Amino acid sequence: TRRKLIAGNWKMNGSLSANEALLNALLHDVGRPGCDVAVCVPAPYFSQVQSLVAGSQVALGAQDISAQSHGAFTGEQSAAMLKDFGVRYAIVGHSERRQYHGEIDEIVAAKAAAALANGITPIVCVGETLAERDAGRTEEVVKRQLAAVIHVNGHCISEIVVAYEPVWAIGTGKTATPEQAQGVHAVLRAQLHHAASEHSAAIRLLYGGSMNAANASELLSQPDIDGGLIGGASLKAPDFLQIIGAAR
Ligand code: 13P
Repeated sequence: TRRKLIAGNWKMNGSLSANEALLNALLHDVGRPGCDVAVCVPAPYFSQVQSLVAGSQVALGAQDISAQSHGAFTGEQSAAMLKDFGVRYAIVGHSERRQYHGEIDEIVAAKAAAALANGITPIVCVGETLAERDAGRTEEVVKRQLAAVIHVNGHCISEIVVAYEPVWAIGTGKTATPEQAQGVHAVLRAQLHHAASEHSAAIRLLYGGSMNAANASELLSQPDIDGGLIGGASLKAPDFLQIIGAAR
């Protein structure tokens, strides 16, 4: 059985003082969680958060990673740099990066490969827009996005985490119903099984998009939903803690 993963994606939010208050509240009450827990923080705060979560049950994550190893790539952070700060997970291909930063499937796949090559677990995001869903293209889109990553990484596919984040559900308060989410997760699981049958049962599939304290337990009780990628609700310790408590 897959141990669930609850990962917070702070996006471009936080400050030294706000991070400290949030993490102190989180660490005070998180105890021995029944799932894996991570916070994916803005890069300038890696060092601060690394210190704050040291020795705790909360792992440090990044929101992006460079596909390149080093050199003349202004503004990028390499996997080795992330490793220097104890980063364990890196979100790759978040829809906001696909939308605002031109990240196409091939770039996402290269970023996932760079993470894997450095012992960082990529959290690969896939998800359809509202227009794509309305056009009946959800399956086609998420399968194309996942296929790019499977194809490039071949044998190390078991080390990835996949997050299904329907774009229309992100930051909108409109959650996919548990049935909608499970339906897509089952499609992704079948695709993984086909590509890597001996590993597919171990790969965690997270749901993301307006997951909150009230809807988490129903989503997390679906057979192929193995955790959550949490935006807004991860910025409030009580809400994030409730979601963690719902994941067992
Ligand atoms: P919200 O939880 O704020 O909808 O964000 C979801 C998300 O994009 C997590 O990566």
